[in-house]
Amino acid sequence: MKIIVHRGAEETGGNCIELVSGKSRILLDYGALPGAADEETILNIPGLYDDKASHPILGLIISHTHLSHYGALLARPINPGIKVFMTEIMEDVIRINAKMPRDGKKLPANIHYFRKGHKFIVGRFVITPYLMDHTAAESFAFLIESEGKRVIYTGDFRAHGGKANAFKQFLAASMGPVDALITEGVRAGIEKGPDEQEVMDHLEPMVKDQHGAVYFMCAGQDIGLLTSLAALARNTKRYLVVDGYTVLVLERLKELALKQGVELKIPGLDTEYLRIVRNAATQRIYQLTEYAGIFRRMRPVMFGWDWVNDNLRKLIIPVRANSQLWVDEQIKDFGGAAFVYSDWESYGDEPGMRETLEWFKAQRMEAIAIPSSGHAYFSTIRKLVENKRPRYIIPVNAGDPEKFTSTFGKRAKVLKNGEEFALDQAEKSF
Ligand SMILES: [Zn+2]
Repeated sequence: MKIIVHRGAEETGGNCIELVSGKSRILLDYGALPGAADEETILNIPGLYDDKASHPILGLIISHTHLSHYGALLARPINPGIKVFMTEIMEDVIRINAKMPRDGKKLPANIHYFRKGHKFIVGRFVITPYLMDHTAAESFAFLIESEGKRVIYTGDFRAHGGKANAFKQFLAASMGPVDALITEGVRAGIEKGPDEQEVMDHLEPMVKDQHGAVYFMCAGQDIGLLTSLAALARNTKRYLVVDGYTVLVLERLKELALKQGVELKIPGLDTEYLRIVRNAATQRIYQLTEYAGIFRRMRPVMFGWDWVNDNLRKLIIPVRANSQLWVDEQIKDFGGAAFVYSDWESYGDEPGMRETLEWFKAQRMEAIAIPSSGHAYFSTIRKLVENKRPRYIIPVNAGDPEKFTSTFGKRAKVLKNGEEFALDQAEKSF
């Protein structure tokens, strides 16, 4: 088996890895570079856009719905012969996101679903998806087996968010001897940090005492954080104020999970203290007639700007890309307000989120920086290595690749983009 990291070996955002076994080729993720134009995003991989490769690419497997992991798919239609694998929830989130701007781009049609824990076969590869804890609506790691070799690809993950249990289950899953662990390392530079619950517990008294609205940096599909904020709202007797987009994502997730017999414990229209603000994103959902049913159910908890301005000191308002536009235009009073954001988050998952962050930091309100990240601390990566005992550790999207070499010695393979790493060769020269 051969591993080629096309994107992500040398950068922290954007990811694409090829695995080759005999004549079978698959790709793991096809992420966009943050802020890059479509032409820069497209990778020149044989068979990805043409039929000229001697061995075709059989499948493209998406780990989660952050643009850094699927965004390049939207830049130009790939070869329609390539099957694109994701979950039904992931497809739904991508489709909703694509519909938000009027000129949104379309997903390719050749989509196939995988399900957590259910093996699927692509050419000579047998692939098992494992649910992970991360800040996308759903995120997966994969065990990929072929020719008696085993490779783990973590996707993006952590062990300190609301789905921390997923990491425990991942450690507990018996996978047999692992040849290579391809692990993300975006926050490998941070040895250890608090978990999301500890951060929220620490924040609670501050939010209680605040005399104005509390704005919170939170990506639209960070369901884990939205769930924590809903609990924070309940505990501090505040309203959680979101827009129609957020509610649509939450309600669709619930519907699709329920179809598979899973009842998600996330906020939604049945959350007593949830309120929807009539902003541009809510208007946009109104225009999407396919969601008319959900929109109708939103109406009773939809409120205008007068209500928002009259109740500022009772509100928790998650903000994301472009939220500053309506906050600036509609909110009359920042007195006693606070803005909570993470120092350890790059906010690169949603275009425009950095601008939102800078805008809020520049306003006259108390800024509260919290230590929280969507990515694994190095202690978590170390735990994973100790548990799975891979022969090789290949970091991708690593902020600090030297940390891998200094910790794991020769077992760490820090590759260059496009460099081939053959597992069999490695064995011979060992
Ligand atoms: Zn991610």
